[in-house]
Amino acid sequence: PLSKPRQAPLRLPPDTSREKFDAAIVALKKVLGEKGVELNDKPLVDGWYMEHPNTHDAYHIVDQEEMVCSAIAYPSTVPEVQEIVRWANEFKIPIYPISMGRNIGYGGAAPRVPGSVVVDLGRNMNKVLKLDANNASCIVEPGVSYFKLYEEIKKQGLPLWVDTPDLGGGSVLGNAIDRGVGYTPYGDHFANHCGMEVVLPNGELLRTGMGALPGKDGADNPTWGSFQNAFGPSVDGIFSQSNFGIVVKMGFWLMPDTGHQSYLVTFKREDDFQKIVETIRPLALKRIIGNVPQLRHSIQELAITGKPRSTWYTGSGPMPREVIKDGVSKLFFGECAWVFYGTQYGDPDSISSQLALIKSEFAKIPGSKFYLPSDVPKDHYLHQRAEVCSGVPSLKDLEWLNWKPNAAHLFFAPITPTDPKAAYTVHSIIERLYEKWGFDIWPTLCFAGREIHYISVVVYDRGNEEEKRRARCLMREMIAETAKEGFGEYRTHLLFADQVAQTYGWNNQALMRFNETLKDALDPNGILAPGRNGIWPKNYRGKGWEL
Ligand code: ADP
Repeated sequence: PLSKPRQAPLRLPPDTSREKFDAAIVALKKVLGEKGVELNDKPLVDGWYMEHPNTHDAYHIVDQEEMVCSAIAYPSTVPEVQEIVRWANEFKIPIYPISMGRNIGYGGAAPRVPGSVVVDLGRNMNKVLKLDANNASCIVEPGVSYFKLYEEIKKQGLPLWVDTPDLGGGSVLGNAIDRGVGYTPYGDHFANHCGMEVVLPNGELLRTGMGALPGKDGADNPTWGSFQNAFGPSVDGIFSQSNFGIVVKMGFWLMPDTGHQSYLVTFKREDDFQKIVETIRPLALKRIIGNVPQLRHSIQELAITGKPRSTWYTGSGPMPREVIKDGVSKLFFGECAWVFYGTQYGDPDSISSQLALIKSEFAKIPGSKFYLPSDVPKDHYLHQRAEVCSGVPSLKDLEWLNWKPNAAHLFFAPITPTDPKAAYTVHSIIERLYEKWGFDIWPTLCFAGREIHYISVVVYDRGNEEEKRRARCLMREMIAETAKEGFGEYRTHLLFADQVAQTYGWNNQALMRFNETLKDALDPNGILAPGRNGIWPKNYRGKGWEL
């Protein structure tokens, strides 16, 4: 099921005949050379994380062939990106920029409009352009992965960390403009960026922040990597989760190497959820908790062993609570329903005083237990967490993909305040709907100061059309039901973007109307990633594109 013969050989862009398309491709090859353009007419291969396709969404939730591009363009320079944009305007062909295109669980490399030309920036534009040890910052191109940046820092022997997500193969730039998160104190990736260079939909080149002020004799501005907002409206935000520009360079702050200590706390009772959140709340608010910690449901302790679900359960429907409990109790910790992974930072004295406080707060929850890495077996996931939380990219989190045959995953990712009642409202909707649609519950709560990214994973078999249908139904219902309670997603798979965007509809969709005004002004021909994050250009609106 993961690679089948193509039903249709090539998906053309909308309103484009084969002749027109062929003529356009000839013109594009004049810009990028023969090797700079590839038609997407071969069988689709899902590959795996490190060899992911740029032809479609490897974690398809509809037919594999529905979300495909017509061709892929590989620019090597910023002027080539500008040329591609001008080409798209001339031929009225939609383009869809990706940095590396991993973006798993959110649509991979797939364009929202089938037949778009994917602009794969990362293949040839993959340099760390600057690593500034004094300022602890860098400037990267779209193709720089967490691994690559990490290796570059090591090569130069600098005492700096890269904040990485659970998996380290994605693009630093791509993840940040999609507002992804990691787990060190620099875990909010967009908040820790500083400066961008952007190709606008008309081909114009723009620098944001201090970069807009030319440095001496045409050099880059010396404070480009130091101060985010510069002068006038702060425009960086409109290039995140949008389709207003192609980001070709981006600056990031890097965390100076420091002492760190990871730990975990287990909680015995599933129903202590609210107590746990209430214990974390003041610790997070006062920034006593050092990073973006995770509270995980213990089913993930089973999954992260890398063993398939059938090791514990072969029945139909979601894995029952009792089965999870029983399975987990045979692992290292004994009985446990929730696991909290945290890390403290600083010198040894401050770490130990922070830990003493954290320990005593959690100890108020009956049955909770505290562990350091030295207390757990060598192969326990805590050791991996300690790496991710101290700036070392990892692939360990791929292991839970053994859970099911052809396993793929989707994320449902609402935000709640760090408030037990609110978090529980969302949690109970999710629990009920997972049960209804037959999926194993899989929550990970990432805590920041005042909010929780409640990341709920849907693990499904992408070879099973019926299961994919149920996964889609589950997503739609969760989006609708949590929105009714006032909770919304921070990010979503491209196929649910219209529905999620609509939930942000205060005052008769004022926000979307504002985004559309920007879109129409910046991209009058509607060539750049139409439909991304629910923003449709005027030539697409009201024609049945919205899902
Ligand atoms: P990753 O490499 O982390 O998997 P992607 O390259 O898939 O990330 O980026 C995630 C999404 O962000 C893409 O699907 C695309 O819509 C958008 N995107 C990525 N890179 C750029 C860019 N340089 N300019 C504009 N949008 C981008």
